[in-house]
Amino acid sequence: MKTALGNLDFADATTLSEALTLLASEPDRVPLAGCTDVYVGLNFGHIEKKRFVNIWSLSELRGISENADFLRIGALTTYTEMIESPIIAKFLPMMRDCARLIGGCQVQNRGTVGGNIANGSPAGDTLPILAVAEAMIIAQSLSGTRKIPFLSFYAGYRKTVLLPGELIVAIEIPKPPGAQWFRKVGTRAANAISKVVIAGLRGETVRLAFGSVGPTVIRARRTEAVLSSGGTIAQARDALAHDIHPIDDLRSTSRYRMQVAENLLSAFWDSTTPNQS
Ligand SMILES: Cc1cc2nc3c(=O)[nH]c(=O)nc-3n(C[C@H](O)[C@H](O)[C@H](O)COP(=O)(O)OP(=O)(O)OC[C@H]3O[C@@H](n4cnc5c(N)ncnc54)[C@H](O)[C@@H]3O)c2cc1C
Repeated sequence: MKTALGNLDFADATTLSEALTLLASEPDRVPLAGCTDVYVGLNFGHIEKKRFVNIWSLSELRGISENADFLRIGALTTYTEMIESPIIAKFLPMMRDCARLIGGCQVQNRGTVGGNIANGSPAGDTLPILAVAEAMIIAQSLSGTRKIPFLSFYAGYRKTVLLPGELIVAIEIPKPPGAQWFRKVGTRAANAISKVVIAGLRGETVRLAFGSVGPTVIRARRTEAVLSSGGTIAQARDALAHDIHPIDDLRSTSRYRMQVAENLLSAFWDSTTPNQS
């Protein structure tokens, strides 16, 4: 462990109002949810901040609900809760498929959707889903609540537009139209960071988002336009080269990622094409 835990200052908040008051008066405090990303950062010495506020007990940030138009997922909802939720199974099955592939049981029991979003890793597996579902992030501070379109939430690599003192309290998701599809490709089938991750929606139009192929999650707009207007999958594969520009890094090469992304695009199309026979 590169960071000595004894030098860190942890405060526990038991209500949302307590957490927001603490974050407003002590803006150097970092929220701690399931701690599955923060702990890794501390272990590798990547986190310089020394003061934290534990939000794990905030019941206001929990729960999955729905109304006629939207699903609402509390920011502290864990992957296990999403795997077990009948609402997710019915309206957002791609999120269930995704949650089942995140880490192992321990991470699924502690890791939260709010943490995945706020952490802002381009490999965050829920992010392509939220991008195609055109989710809204509900952020709250002592100054009030605002809704941020998910597609405007990232200002760059691991940079969000959250303001000091703001917490993500929930995610609001319009009930997605059409067939849903999620896949990730990593080194192993489980407990692996994605080399490429894709979410797709196929209804009257097509929506596609990719992760791990750029500084933030990317909506593949040109590829969507080709497929939505009746173009062929070959044309869509060509368009994808304009939408994403993966880099070489320690997990993969750009060329490999591009090839996998194209293959996933074809697999999405085949899987969501109604059986002609
Ligand atoms: C072994 C292992 C395997 C993993 N596998 C995967 C995987 O397959 N796919 C994947 O996408 N991720 C994976 N992760 C990463 C991690 O589990 C997820 O990103 C998880 O969703 C983070 O949630 P958390 O609650 O633990 O966040 P935390 O670690 O508590 O917080 C992460 C960041 O988000 C901020 N934050 C948390 N909640 C809020 C909030 N409500 N409002 C504002 N800021 C907030 C924190 O301040 C911190 O900066 C893995 C991690 C480990 C250790």
